[in-house]
Amino acid sequence: MLGRWYRKPGPIFGGRLRHMRRPGLTRREWLERTVPGAAGVLFLPAWAAADDAPKLVDIAEYTEAGKRLGVRKLPKIVKSEEQWRSELTRISFEVTRHADTEVPFTGETWNEHGKGLYRCICCDTAVFHSNSKYESGTGWPSFWRPLDRRNVEEHVDRSEREVRMAIACRLCDAHLGHVFEDGPPPTGQRYCMNSAAMRFVEM
Ligand SMILES: [Zn+2]
Repeated sequence: MLGRWYRKPGPIFGGRLRHMRRPGLTRREWLERTVPGAAGVLFLPAWAAADDAPKLVDIAEYTEAGKRLGVRKLPKIVKSEEQWRSELTRISFEVTRHADTEVPFTGETWNEHGKGLYRCICCDTAVFHSNSKYESGTGWPSFWRPLDRRNVEEHVDRSEREVRMAIACRLCDAHLGHVFEDGPPPTGQRYCMNSAAMRFVEM
């Protein structure tokens, strides 16, 4: 099978089969029905050939020691409720996947003042740096800016009377906390995060 595909890729892909594509199927379904094993031969993950493939996002990557590696395009991480539940503690699951908020002064890092990176508890994306952490007095870890704006996204949260801006991990959509406009200079922003949504990695 492999050999045949390597010898004659052109006519199979470019000609006859392309015109046989049937409506109502995703690319993956079509490939699997038309050419059994085709996805494997192409060495693509199954989702890469499907119309419902996860969206690609730009993520700034950092080593465990905090060194910036650069920006990479990565597929968004999508898992089921059950998968997330099995991988996280109860509090981290409720905060990140159901946008709950931990009780102030109870988390692991509200009073952490060491040098290091804060990473998404779900997917390890680096989201905050200790150099922008400050003592807000709220009992939640607070920062005046994210590590790299690519790595987080904001969306309007209307779940309470006050309309707030929620902050999520861009790679896996984990809810991390909220941002408010009453922070210190230079940004004036207060990223009010949940300890349970992040893992602190000391440098
Ligand atoms: Zn994440």
